[in-house]
Amino acid sequence: MPELPEVETVRAGLEPVLRGRRFVHVEQRRKDLRFPLPERFAARLTGRKVAKLDRRAKYILIHLNDGEVLAVHLGMTGRFSVSRKGDRDAAQLGEFAHEHGNDAKHDHLVFTMSGGAVVTYNDARRFGYMTLIPEREIAHDAFFRGLGVEPLSDELSPAYLSSRARGRKSDLKAFLMDQRIVAGLGNIYVCEALHMARIAPGRAGGRISRPRLGRLAVAVKAVLLEAIGAGGSTLRDYVQPNGELGYFSAKWRVYGREGLPCPECRTAIRRRTDSGRSTFFCPSCQRT
Ligand SMILES: [Zn+2]
Repeated sequence: MPELPEVETVRAGLEPVLRGRRFVHVEQRRKDLRFPLPERFAARLTGRKVAKLDRRAKYILIHLNDGEVLAVHLGMTGRFSVSRKGDRDAAQLGEFAHEHGNDAKHDHLVFTMSGGAVVTYNDARRFGYMTLIPEREIAHDAFFRGLGVEPLSDELSPAYLSSRARGRKSDLKAFLMDQRIVAGLGNIYVCEALHMARIAPGRAGGRISRPRLGRLAVAVKAVLLEAIGAGGSTLRDYVQPNGELGYFSAKWRVYGREGLPCPECRTAIRRRTDSGRSTFFCPSCQRT
């Protein structure tokens, strides 16, 4: 499942080919992804212009210049590739941690933009979805209502974390992964942030001191920005044919590194599994 930095990398990759461009042609090859696509989806998009792109949690928001937004969630295996009219090779936006191939039979939507970019949405397992929402209704929309603060915004502050954590008996990892508290954080970056902040993943959220929650807020932003930077630095080449984006170049501190030395103290990283989800941590740096 793409995590926030991957989604942000895809957003940044789409920006130069979509922003200020019109949908010249929209080829819709099925009626649904995870959910039905909007009525007359292709016809409604055709001819409309993209004003800007941004992101909320793990949604890419493609703002059209007439007040409506095309919201895209990549689900598990959704991905975009970009080619130019007449090119055979498409550059894929973001090399994902979990590969599911790129079989053309899973190309469900093809957007041809003014400016010549052909943007293809491929989704093997079809957990992704797209919808059109009036801009002013986003905050109340079922997909967005109730989402917590953006982790990279100033709203994720020590004061916010401490007010939300107060009295919580559930562990800090579950607390951080609760989308109603912080939107868009997943397993990988929660493990990474807890390690950077030197906090044991199993500690009860309500029992962490304010200064440590402050360190945690800083760590969440730092690990996300580092990953986005790593993705972004490879995006310069994305229009090149065969543009393999060397994205997650094993830069994780603890995630996926069971038995390997902790980057801080060289103690072997441990893995614990609860309800099918792995937690990676350093038993020495993250003792309490
Ligand atoms: Zn360590």
